[in-house]
Amino acid sequence: MQKYSDRLNRLSYSQTFVMSNKVREMRAEGIDVIGLTLGEPDFDVPDNIKQAAFDAINENYSHYSPVPGFLELRQAIARKLKRDNNLDYKPTQIVVSNGAKQSILNIMAAVVNDGDEVILPTPYWVSYDEMVKMMGGKSIFVQTSIESEFKITAQQLEEAITPKTKVLLFSSPCNPSGSFYTYEELKAIAEVVAKHPQITIISDEIYEYINYEGEHVSIASFPEVYEQTAVINGMSKAFAMTGWRIGYCAAPEWLAKGCDKVQGQMTSGANTVAQRASIVALDAGKEHYQYMVDSFKKRRDLIYDLMKDIPGFKVNKPKSAFYIFPDISFYIGKTLKGKEIKNSDDFAMFLLEEAKVASVGGVSFGDVNCIRFSYASSEKDITEAMRRIKECLASC
Ligand code: PMP
Ligand code: GLU
Repeated sequence: MQKYSDRLNRLSYSQTFVMSNKVREMRAEGIDVIGLTLGEPDFDVPDNIKQAAFDAINENYSHYSPVPGFLELRQAIARKLKRDNNLDYKPTQIVVSNGAKQSILNIMAAVVNDGDEVILPTPYWVSYDEMVKMMGGKSIFVQTSIESEFKITAQQLEEAITPKTKVLLFSSPCNPSGSFYTYEELKAIAEVVAKHPQITIISDEIYEYINYEGEHVSIASFPEVYEQTAVINGMSKAFAMTGWRIGYCAAPEWLAKGCDKVQGQMTSGANTVAQRASIVALDAGKEHYQYMVDSFKKRRDLIYDLMKDIPGFKVNKPKSAFYIFPDISFYIGKTLKGKEIKNSDDFAMFLLEEAKVASVGGVSFGDVNCIRFSYASSEKDITEAMRRIKECLASC
């Protein structure tokens, strides 16, 4: 009989997509549900980027690109890394992929052996642990809580490192917590990693531009770990280009070569039209897209103000990305409208069924106490969603 592989059986479905598909199904049944599930900008692709894509089609960019991406795009990425992050990378250190998701997976495939340990500051983005499993590695979870803004300390990291540690993988700004690490915090982490030359840092900076309160710092900018760091970024969040599937990594040359080798066998590289448009997207500079960040900030303020008044929700004000991650442990162990709430996934399901508001439970982010709301939605939907939740809980 044909069977799935053990590798596939180890995997879970991506909960972000599971919950957003549920919203789609419920709507198709005529149910009025508000979806605050998937993390993607609700803006259209800016016109300058669209025009560059039309031009690329008319100029017949229809053949395979080099596996790591067009040289002109890798040069534009190098310019961006210098301009925004004061980082020096040569095009040979950059690999463009089908979204940042693939960029992360390429590096994991390039460095993780069976049984290798990958440190995941927790909560982490849903796909990290699954990627570790895919590569045969072992995730080591370093727990945080809302009190520490969901950030690990250098000392916690030091305690988690063993001779088997291969990778430290984290996002700053963070999905799902909305926190970001400051210069001092990253410096302390860099100093720890520098003492362990076998470790590769995968620094996922895809929410770099969506930062309301501070300066984005890349851990690669600390010289002591430049050679140990792979910077991940992409077009999805900053330029509202989620469906165009362009991400990249910038890394030491040997690691970029490893990604090129993996990618050459897996996907042959990224979509050529989207690559050409990405050059224009990057070169326009951050200010060109500030209107989206300003709008997310307004919505951050709105959802925070409304959510902090919901009984049993402990919330910190997220400083970046477009997620809010309240601690709802007050409800765990209770029975609400006949439904037993054993963890945050049960609570998210309860809100979906009873309040018709969709979020993503925290379990797949490694956190049983919190749930994630994406607020890249209209102010009207945010306001109505918080009203529904408050009313539903008041009637329990
Ligand atoms: N990293 C993080 C933290 C994310 O939230 C996402 C979500 N899309 C990605 C990487 C992947 O982005 P993409 O593949 O769309 O570039
Ligand atoms: N990154 C987004 C999220 O966390 C999109 C979905 C995904 O890639 O998992 O919702």
